Parts: sequence; C-alpha cells; structure tokens
Amino acid sequence: MTGRKNNVIHGTAAPLRGRFVNTGNGPTFQAIDIGHPEYVAMIEPDTAFWSLIQRESLTDCLSEGDLLKSYAKKSKQFAKEIDSLRFGLKPSAVYFNPTERCNMNCTYCYIPEKMRRHGEHMTKKKLFAALDILKRYFHKTLPKDSMPQIIFHGAEPLLNREAVFAGIKEYEDDFLFGVQTNATLLDDKAVEFLKSHHVSIGISLDAPTARIADRTRKNWDGQGIFKQVVAAMERLKGYESWSVICTVTGSNLRHLSKLVDFFHEKEVPTCLMNILRCTLPPSRSLKPSDAEAARYFLAALDRTYELYEQTGRRLPVGNFANILLAIIAPAARRLMCDISPCGGGRCFFALAPNGGMFPCSEFIGLDHFQSGNLFTDDISTILQSEPFRLVTDRKVEDIEPCRHCAIRHFCGAPCPAEAFEMNGGMNKTGAFCEFYEEQVRYAFRVIADGKVDAYLWDGWDKGMKTTFNINKD
Ligand code: SF4
Ligand code: SF4
Repeated sequence: MTGRKNNVIHGTAAPLRGRFVNTGNGPTFQAIDIGHPEYVAMIEPDTAFWSLIQRESLTDCLSEGDLLKSYAKKSKQFAKEIDSLRFGLKPSAVYFNPTERCNMNCTYCYIPEKMRRHGEHMTKKKLFAALDILKRYFHKTLPKDSMPQIIFHGAEPLLNREAVFAGIKEYEDDFLFGVQTNATLLDDKAVEFLKSHHVSIGISLDAPTARIADRTRKNWDGQGIFKQVVAAMERLKGYESWSVICTVTGSNLRHLSKLVDFFHEKEVPTCLMNILRCTLPPSRSLKPSDAEAARYFLAALDRTYELYEQTGRRLPVGNFANILLAIIAPAARRLMCDISPCGGGRCFFALAPNGGMFPCSEFIGLDHFQSGNLFTDDISTILQSEPFRLVTDRKVEDIEPCRHCAIRHFCGAPCPAEAFEMNGGMNKTGAFCEFYEEQVRYAFRVIADGKVDAYLWDGWDKGMKTTFNINKD
C-alpha cells in the first residue's frame, strides 16, 4: 500500500512493553565477536549487562526470548551497580606526594624535570598538618567502619623518608598506608619498618634484564637501577602486600612474557603492566601501536596462565584483572582508570607537597588542573571546582566513537589527562583504544573457557554475589 498520509494511525508512539530485543522499548543489544570458536558476547551497553551465547544459538536466543528473560531478571541489578560505581562513590584515597624531588630521570615521567631536580620536600610539620586535615575530612564523609587510604607517591617519596615514616607511625590507626617507590632507597631498615606497619609497597620495574629495564628508568647520571630493584625484591619476598608496576612502552613490549617469568620466579604477589600514559610529549616517543601493544600484552597474560597450570601459583596482572572484574563483578574493581568518569577527583585525588590539589597524579605538572590548596581551602569546594569538574564530568557518552561502543563500561576510554593534553579535549579518546578492545575480548574468552580464577587474586569473590553465568541465567 502506498499513500502513507491516508494510513496514519494516531495513538501511543512506541510499544510500551519492550517485548523484543532492539526495537521499541526493548533493550538494545550489541553482539560482539570475542574471537572464541564457540561463543559470542551479547552486551546491553548502558547497563553493562552481557551474556555469552553459543554461535549457533544466536538467532534462537533472540527469537525465543531467552536473552530478554535473562535481561529482565538481572538488568535492574546491573543498572544499579553501574550507576552507583559511576556516580555514587565518594573520595576515599589520596595520592600524597611528600616531595617534588626524585633521584631518577625516567623517560616517561609525568612530573616536570625542574620539579624533580630542584623541588621541595614537605616538612614533617606540614605532612602531619595535611594528614590531620584529611583525617577530619574523611571522618565527616566516610562511613565509620571504612578506612581511607593514603598512598605516598612520586616523585620519590622515600627521599623524604623521615617525615613519611613519622606520619605512618602517628596516623596508623586512621589510614591504610601505601608507598609507591622506585625501590632505590628500599634498604633493610625501610622494608622492616614498612612491613611492621603493614604498609603496602609498590615498586617499579620494566624488564627482566638490566639492558632493557635501564633504557627508560635511569638516574640523573644516566645509570640504570636494575640491580637495586632486584635486591629490594629479594628483601620483599614473603611479604603479602607488595606489587611491581611495569610501564609498558615500545622499549620493553617484546619482553613482557619473559618479565612474567621473572616476576613469578621472584614470587611477586601481584604485578601491574600499565600501558604508558602519553600525557606529556617526552613519553609519546615511546608509544607503541595499539596492535603491537595488545599482541605482546596478551601473550604475557597467556604466560601467567601457563605458569599457573605448571606451578599452581598465580601472578595476577592487576590492570587486566580489573577489566575482568569490571565484567563479572563490577563492585570488586580495585582500580579506577577503566570506568567513566574515571576515579580521578571522584574516588581519590592527588596532593602536591605545597598542598596543591589535583584530580589525579597524572595532572601534577599541569598547572591549570590545580585547584585550591589543602592548607587554605575547603576540600569539598575544591572537589566541585572547574578543574576537577572537567575530569569528573568526562563521560564516555560524550566521546566519539566511545558513545556507540558496546564495551564502553568495561574500558572507560582512559585517560582524561591524555585526551586533554595529547588529543585536544576532554571529549576525545585517550592514547589507546584497540589495546583496550583486545583486553575486553580476551577477558570474555577467559570467562567462556572457565579460567577466571587463574587470573585473579585468592579470595577475589569473598563477599561478592555472582553476577555472571555463561548462557544459563
Ligand atoms: S584514567 Fe588517567 S586521570 Fe583517570 S584515574 Fe587513571 S590515570 Fe588518573
Ligand atoms: S576507547 Fe575504544 S574500546 Fe574504549 S570505550 Fe572508546 S571506543 Fe570503546
């Protein structure tokens, strides 16, 4: 029949019941190829609801309404979880920089060289005053039974060791403490002190040999520090709360699988293999392509699985484990780069030695992202200020192509600092995209093959409700 004019029916514009997938008020599902011989993933991107479907059952699952039934059962829970993770959290951690100085000159550092060479230490008096202000603030904002976290962070916090250790001793009942260090000053006494005060310790190492590790991490005289880091690793053996961060660059990419062997042999409890942040121009010279980064990174993940099978001991790669958790148990996420808005200024903030506050350490050195001072301004007001809002208001829904992307709530389109500095605005993507795509696809394969436990920490699901089940719910 032609002549539409004659066939206009007035009434409700869209069916209200949502009886079908992808039409009317029904949920919008996107099918994604996860590179698995048997399964594809069906994702409802807004709620991050997903289901793994056998390839040959794809049409049946749409026409027989199985997918819709599962969605009806779980979608509210998924929507609530994702909403509260994205918009309902309060800051509960501070990346606390007790000094501007560093004894190292790593190629990809986000802190300007002038600061690291000639900057200031925070005095012990000021450090105590800062912890006092933070204690009072968190006392007001967090539930009584939760402990806020203070992570002493770089430049190199142990250059100001006396003040830092005194702060840990004085405030150990008020905060959970962590230290992120380049490990050069982690001598026997320091390790003993940190262990006895249950401080979590993160050290940095980029490769399993001095020849490669020392390419990017060197002191001001150009000398590498591989040997010192390995000595510190020996001192830390047996301690539960330590980890190693490797920054993945074009320089060490090909050696990641060997690095996994090395970490496993040194009994590292957890590692992170963080892709290089390209916020500042010098680090961009080390940027690998997405495809290359994904290839070697995923091979390193495969290697952790092989070692687990051979020895029964896991080596969780924290940043990948976080993506896996984002899919199967979002509330168990430990890191906040792969959610949008990211955790910067929302779940934590960074504190410079002069009291300046930034949404995340990644912005230290970018003056226009400093907003207010801990010693003179109200923290809640700073958190609502323009520089913080630029970061906390950055949502995947406002970014092309992320707003159409089925995995946008498992990736989060990091990082706002890169988007702003490298790509020209908060509504741009960061430095990588396919790298995250490939990790999410890998994570779904891990789920499809029932290998989740091999990639996570012991007890990761303690107190968690199951939110996933392959093709069953
Ligand atoms: S995505 Fe960037 S700004 Fe956000 S928390 Fe991660 S490093 Fe910080
Ligand atoms: S960065 Fe890429 S993978 Fe991540 S949400 Fe955006 S389009 Fe998707």
